[in-house]
Amino acid sequence: MKFKKSQKLYNKGLVNLVGAVNSPVRAFSSVGGNPLFIKKAKGSTITDVDGNEYVDLVLSYGPMILGHRHKKVEKAAKKALKNGYSFGASTENEIKLAKIVCDAFPGMDKVRFVNSGTEAVLSGIRLARAFTGKDKIIKFSGCYHGHQDALLVAAGSGLATLSLPGSKGVPEGAVKNTLIAEYNNLESVKAHFEKFDDIAGVIIEPVGGNMGVVIPQNDFLKDLKELAHKNGAVLIADEVMTGFRSKFGGAQEVLGVEADITCLGKVIGGGFPVGAYGARNEIMENVAPLGGMYQAGTLSGNPIAMAGGISTLTELKKQNPYDKFEEIGSIIEVILLETAKKYNIDLSVNRFGSMLNPFFTKTKVTNFEEAQTSDTEKFAVFFWEMIKNGVFLPPSQFEAWFLSSALKDKDIKKIADATDKAMQKVADS
Ligand code: PMP
Repeated sequence: MKFKKSQKLYNKGLVNLVGAVNSPVRAFSSVGGNPLFIKKAKGSTITDVDGNEYVDLVLSYGPMILGHRHKKVEKAAKKALKNGYSFGASTENEIKLAKIVCDAFPGMDKVRFVNSGTEAVLSGIRLARAFTGKDKIIKFSGCYHGHQDALLVAAGSGLATLSLPGSKGVPEGAVKNTLIAEYNNLESVKAHFEKFDDIAGVIIEPVGGNMGVVIPQNDFLKDLKELAHKNGAVLIADEVMTGFRSKFGGAQEVLGVEADITCLGKVIGGGFPVGAYGARNEIMENVAPLGGMYQAGTLSGNPIAMAGGISTLTELKKQNPYDKFEEIGSIIEVILLETAKKYNIDLSVNRFGSMLNPFFTKTKVTNFEEAQTSDTEKFAVFFWEMIKNGVFLPPSQFEAWFLSSALKDKDIKKIADATDKAMQKVADS
């Protein structure tokens, strides 16, 4: 497999782009290489500029749940394009998408659309503060909630990949109201509530997806909600990754917990830039123009993005691929575990429906600290061999792999063959 054209574009990109990428997770620095440049994608397959074809388990970091270029989504977006791209005024499709979203999340009476997951969460945090009149927010180490200042501490995703505790350029004042707790450790949350009486909310990825996949144990989420409410705080579910992916009603539907404020992104736009935050009326009435919490957006509710979102979610509801995801997910999980065993490699796999990833650890990973014990050098060897055998994975130990409903039997076979070669390489390294 050759990467000549990617390499050429990378060198060219370095001149006017930072690291030749527009998001650090796209750099291959933690796996010791340079980024691939993509030419096109269709269904379950993504093709780089050198013509190499891969089964895509990145899926744009989650949004492409139906696979790439789904016919109905493309048709809807093209149709919307003909009517104009942006008006700075309301359109009927915003109401249609809002209804689909509110129907899917019982805890949501109203929703506000924004353009990214980052915007959704920063607005959700502001809303928690506006509603409770309190300032502090508890977040969990290893959870990533976008690149807003206040939550860019002990965050997963690119910060975990690049081993950064936080970000330069974030003033102390911006994080002075941020408290860190440990995932799956209720006591660590309790300790904050015992110490502070001005905590507005607890924000959590209901299934961690930015430290690798980390699953809430037992009734962690239910207990968290109860604890927050007992202390006059709200539970904020960051379902940017899990919304419409774990189930149509997100991880909340699977886990049987209704958050007070829910933040969405990724799948909700089906690959177009859409984010959203929503809650019951009592909370949403704080948002302008109904209330005093200001949040706005020139391109929010963009007509092409709304059409993309409506068609993606409509098709998703029709396909109802969640049982299929469970089936394919468990097949891939078994492939990983059995192949590792064959080559005597310590491996654990965490999976929640269509999100999964392997850790090179002896025991199961339940929090960020444990995730960080994974042998990332082994991951790098594994990653490159998977690439060379036609499977596109996130170039980091700390990112989830995603499944799409476009996956075919031949793709699973390709994943199995690549895994065998990759584990063999790890064993020989
Ligand atoms: N929250 C979570 C849970 C995420 O996974 C991400 C992105 N990976 C974000 C927020 C930020 O979303 P965006 O990159 O669209 O700003």
